[in-house]
Amino acid sequence: MSYPVSCECGETSQVVASEAGATFTCPCGRTVRVPALSKLRAAVGNADDFGSVLERVRQRIKLGKLPCNEICPITGGPATATAWFEILCEREWSRRTGVNDGQAILFAVFGGWLGILFAIMRGDGTRETLGSDVSLTAPLRLSPSGADKVGSTRSQRLLKRAFSMTPIYKQLLQAYPQAKVVRVTVDG
Ligand SMILES: [Zn+2]
Repeated sequence: MSYPVSCECGETSQVVASEAGATFTCPCGRTVRVPALSKLRAAVGNADDFGSVLERVRQRIKLGKLPCNEICPITGGPATATAWFEILCEREWSRRTGVNDGQAILFAVFGGWLGILFAIMRGDGTRETLGSDVSLTAPLRLSPSGADKVGSTRSQRLLKRAFSMTPIYKQLLQAYPQAKVVRVTVDG
């Protein structure tokens, strides 16, 4: 998923979620700041889609409709064990605005300790959240040998491919391409 960000010159560049709050250089030479993720999503009009796919997954887990796979997505054999995973969809990151390091040094030079205190107080009041943390505990059915394989892998590609065999999980991973999948437990 990428989002369009426009420069003053009219040129539009595509950015990804992890670039929220960062800056990039437009081909015209201007430095363009990427808005917060919530603003990027609102701008493309799919803020609700992101919320709803996550909510739909949560709801189906709660109602016992997930996991729904009968075949192990790792081995293709009968899925008899249920494994639980933590899906970390997005991490929160923020930026301190108001006072930059250069300004803080100026405050210190000209204001002494009071200047430093003033710089710290000014800086603390203005923290801007650029993304927010969304995580989900999700089950998947696996065969015993599939569960063993999953237990010994660190391959995100393998885990995401296994989840993508279930359509609603596939939608979730498409909505959060930066997601990390971590195995929690295996029952039975
Ligand atoms: Zn430009």
